[in-house]
Amino acid sequence: MDIGVLRRDGRTDPFFDGAAADRLVIKHCASCDHRLTPDAGDCPDCGTTELAWADASGAASLVTWTVTHGRPAADGTVPPPAFLALVELAEGPWLHARLDGVERAELREGLPLRAVFAHPDEGEPYMLFRPWTE
Ligand SMILES: [Zn+2]
Repeated sequence: MDIGVLRRDGRTDPFFDGAAADRLVIKHCASCDHRLTPDAGDCPDCGTTELAWADASGAASLVTWTVTHGRPAADGTVPPPAFLALVELAEGPWLHARLDGVERAELREGLPLRAVFAHPDEGEPYMLFRPWTE
C-alpha cells in the first residue's frame, strides 16, 4: 500500500528530525509529566499548549489492527496485504501506524513491537512497527 509522500509542516520538524535519525520523538507535558502523541496540540489534563518534545523508547504493544488488501496490478500481481495498527507506546500514547515484518497468524493483542523508520527516496521518513523479541 502506498502511503504517499510525507512532507513536514513546521509544527512537526522535531518528529521528522528524530525519524531521520531513527529516533521516535513524542510530545511531553512538563507540568503533568505526561507523554503525548507527536501530533498532540495540547495536554488533555492541564490544557497547556506549551508542550516539549521528548525521546520515546520505541517500545510498544499492539492494541488492535486491520488488514487491507491492495488491488491487483495490470499484470495480475497482487500486492502483499498491509497491516494497519493501533499501538500503545511504552510511554502511554496510542499511535496509528503500519506494521512491518508480521504474519497475520502472529498478530495478537499485546504483541511486543518496536518502532522502526523507513527512509524513502522522496519525502520524509515514516514510522513502522515490527514485532520485537528481546
Ligand atoms: Zn499537562
